[in-house]
Amino acid sequence: MKLDKSKKNCVFCKIISGEFPSTQIYQDESVIAFLDINPINPGHTLVVPREHSARLESLNPEIGGQMFKVGQQISLALLKSKISCEGINLHLSDGEVAGQEVGHTHLHIIPRFFQDGFGFKTRQGSVQASREELNKLADLIEANL
Ligand code: AMP
Ligand code: ZN
Repeated sequence: MKLDKSKKNCVFCKIISGEFPSTQIYQDESVIAFLDINPINPGHTLVVPREHSARLESLNPEIGGQMFKVGQQISLALLKSKISCEGINLHLSDGEVAGQEVGHTHLHIIPRFFQDGFGFKTRQGSVQASREELNKLADLIEANL
């Protein structure tokens, strides 16, 4: 399904305005955090900028910084809490191909515990890259920084 980037249809904007319900655990002037409705593990949280930006390219970097800062704070709270949490994955899907379903940038805070059955799936047979290949790729990225 095509990613809907519009503010008009945005579920997270509707949560921020109070039109849709949510279970919030944090708010400040630039971001809010609420529990994911379809958690990978209990305590799975989303940190969401108040300002609508569909993808990373339009996210204000300062707000992105605050999103990560709050993500770190919530991670530490989860680790200290009674929720099963021995580690954390911070995850952001940018673009449909990366699994983004909601067209409003957000950071996932995913509590992890031993044998919880979750993991990133990698391609079978991936091999270690050569230094030459890594250097070529580095040039391609650096040219656009
Ligand atoms: P992503 O695939 O990175 O776009 O993640 C979207 C996330 O938003 C999913 O994990 C959904 O479960 C979650 N989500 C969608 N609608 C709601 C909602 N109304 N309240 C809380 N979480 C939601
Ligand atoms: Zn939005």
